[in-house]
Amino acid sequence: MPTAAPTTTHCPLCGQSNGCAVAAGLPAQQCWCMHESVSRDALARLPAEARGRACICPLCAREEPAAPQAPAPVVPNP
Ligand SMILES: [Zn+2]
Repeated sequence: MPTAAPTTTHCPLCGQSNGCAVAAGLPAQQCWCMHESVSRDALARLPAEARGRACICPLCAREEPAAPQAPAPVVPNP
């Protein structure tokens, strides 16, 4: 058991409780993420150290961005 384990009960993107059933000691089948789809874009914004550790929250998992995002650089192909 790591002594300085990062919190797994809070969303690494917004810091709110992620409502993760697994982090709460409940069966994974009860987690919202089993019933809702998680935006790939949200997962892509996760810091590397948070990947595979902390779940994001349902709000961040939705498709619409909660925070203004920088537009993706569009490079026209010659
Ligand atoms: Zn969140």
